[in-house]
Amino acid sequence: MNPNEKQGILPSYNLFLEYDGKEYVVLRSKAPVYMLGEIVCELERATDDFSWLIKIIMGCKNSNAPASYENILQALTEIDDTIDYAFGAASGAVLMNVLASRTQMMLTCLELPDQYDVKSNFKVKESSVKKILGKGGFNSLGAENVAHALLSGLVLSVDMVSQFRELTRLVMDILTEADLENRDTAKIKHILYDNGDLIAAQQIDYRIMNIEEKLTSVYGIKDIMSVLMFELANCINNNVLIKKCNNCGYHFPIHGRPDVIYCSFKAPNGDGKTCKEIGAQVKRANKEKNDALTSEYRKIYLRKKMQVRRHPGEEKYQVMLSEFLDEGKKWQDAIGDGVKSEEEYLLWLKSI
Ligand SMILES: [Zn+2]
Repeated sequence: MNPNEKQGILPSYNLFLEYDGKEYVVLRSKAPVYMLGEIVCELERATDDFSWLIKIIMGCKNSNAPASYENILQALTEIDDTIDYAFGAASGAVLMNVLASRTQMMLTCLELPDQYDVKSNFKVKESSVKKILGKGGFNSLGAENVAHALLSGLVLSVDMVSQFRELTRLVMDILTEADLENRDTAKIKHILYDNGDLIAAQQIDYRIMNIEEKLTSVYGIKDIMSVLMFELANCINNNVLIKKCNNCGYHFPIHGRPDVIYCSFKAPNGDGKTCKEIGAQVKRANKEKNDALTSEYRKIYLRKKMQVRRHPGEEKYQVMLSEFLDEGKKWQDAIGDGVKSEEEYLLWLKSI
């Protein structure tokens, strides 16, 4: 960054939500609908590991260009066009906000080093420098080029994002209590909404807009912690139940049958499939496997039973049938204990 260059200001990206008290519409290009709790759960997934975002940053057309405001803005616009595809529009908007605001702070620190010092303003962990900047081939904060400036901005966001994640985990664990009587929402209210610093730091604005001839409430949420506070207040007030997905292990809100066990978010390494789809696939595969075992077992059992009937005087057939039943029981116990697999059992059945 050339210190003599005229200082510019990066745009602020906010999460704009149309909210009628029941669900949200994210005001981004595709205007997707989110149920209460889905935004914070999506963010939990999107902020777990930033490798995906680093890849997007490094892939910008002008990532190697000098870190002028113009070039950084161009890269941000390119990222803004693609970021929603990774996890969704809500986390896309929030992470654009995080990235742009922190990159702006990074540039300000570099431009006015006497007034703003990175070290005294941000807790920067050596591990996040290595993890994030290292992937771009840099070893310290700076703005040698566009990618360096943006990755440095991302490093400066780690502290805030970690705080968001920590609070999210804590609160989500409370909201997974299905029995509303036992749900300790008082604790959440106390931690988040009695805390003067967190209340003062909320950046949520409200406006009324004419959207398709309907006067609509639109909230502009300007940072990630405010997103958490906005979402959780709505979840608590509407008694939204949260569960942990049996496939990916992340939280998800329940807005239908309370006995669902898989989330509807994209599964990690699921090739675009959701956990629900993968769960159904696994269930179907298990059923097919079970059906194959049952039919093979029945076939052999009936054959042996038939032999006993045809040869009533010969004891050896009765012995063979009993042996088969005993062995089968042993196999089923071994599978139940996890010491033998169903595949091995099927091979044994077929070998008879
Ligand atoms: Zn899942």
